[in-house]
Amino acid sequence: MMAPTHVAVSLALALPVALVAPEFSTAAVVGAVLGGTAPDLDLLVGQHRRTLHFPVLLWPVAVLAGVAALLAPSALSVGAALAVVAAAVHSASDVLGAGEELRPWERTNPNAVYDHARGRWLAARYVVRYDGAPEDLALTVLFAAPVALLLTGPPRWLAVGVIAVAIPYAVLRKRLPKYFARIV
Ligand SMILES: [Zn+2]
Repeated sequence: MMAPTHVAVSLALALPVALVAPEFSTAAVVGAVLGGTAPDLDLLVGQHRRTLHFPVLLWPVAVLAGVAALLAPSALSVGAALAVVAAAVHSASDVLGAGEELRPWERTNPNAVYDHARGRWLAARYVVRYDGAPEDLALTVLFAAPVALLLTGPPRWLAVGVIAVAIPYAVLRKRLPKYFARIV
């Protein structure tokens, strides 16, 4: 899935917290967005979808962090819990997309995301056929729209922003490999 979808899903994870406990709204949104984007930093260091993606191992940590935030709510505990949950959701949801390749619609790489618990790659499910596919854009809008409607201030503009970025990306997606090839 494309980065805007991961951010939109992360914002949607923070939404119930922001609505139930508005005093932790900023912590929840910041934590969720940082945690929900962090796995893809392995595009820059290590191996993408492996080094910083933990589709299985993050879940027990997420449950512990969630329980800790419920027992001792503070900006730090709530932000940390949302960060771990969003990173876990990002890592696990990558299995629904395609493998890592320049033209994912060609399906030459079936490896979606690496499962460190079992020491093997999880197979791509292609529910979202490729990043930037129409269904990927639909997910961005589906998760970002409630945040844009129900929250105010920076979270609202971030939600509007991810939709604004996702639309041209989805429109241009299949033309991008040509430009990448030219740059390389
Ligand atoms: Zn990812």
